[in-house]
Amino acid sequence: MPTQLHAICSDITKLHVGAIVNAANSSLLGGGGVDGAIHRAAGPELVHECRLLGGCKTGHAKVTKAYRLSADYIIHTVGPVWQGGKSGEPALLADCYRRCIALAEERSVVSIAFPSISTGIYGYPLHLAAHIAVSTVQESLSEHSPIAEVIFCCFSPEDLLQYEQVLKNPPLPPIDI
Ligand code: ADP
Repeated sequence: MPTQLHAICSDITKLHVGAIVNAANSSLLGGGGVDGAIHRAAGPELVHECRLLGGCKTGHAKVTKAYRLSADYIIHTVGPVWQGGKSGEPALLADCYRRCIALAEERSVVSIAFPSISTGIYGYPLHLAAHIAVSTVQESLSEHSPIAEVIFCCFSPEDLLQYEQVLKNPPLPPIDI
């Protein structure tokens, strides 16, 4: 069965999925936005486990248990801060999605929910980030992926519209000449 990709508007901490992705900062010790919401909902044991991880570089990802969340894992990834787009931000954002999918597949996760990484406090323009999110996930899923469902969890109806547009008009595959 091919993996289903879809977008919803929700608080990501309320979802019942195999893995919830956190748009963390490099300390992995909690912060604002979705990171703060995940830490509050997961409970204080999460920061205890995160302290043992020694932080995380931009574009990388690390896994913890999900504690009080209704998920098996939290995959913490650190998106790039938007600096105008010429400082490697697109490649770093794609790395986040690629590494999260790889970690989820290694753990045989069946469903995974992503927030729109980097598009809050880190300032990445949503329409650009949505294209990278969708196309990188499509490219990263392995041929017999255990992941049956990828949810792009938007936090506003405007963001949801943008993701729905991208999902309706997926980028064309490269043409062989
Ligand atoms: P970053 O620092 O990577 O920009 P933010 O948490 O500031 O991370 O924002 C990333 C995205 O997560 C934004 O689109 C923001 O609206 C969204 N967001 C914030 N809280 C939640 C939540 N509880 N559930 C889902 N998405 C959220």
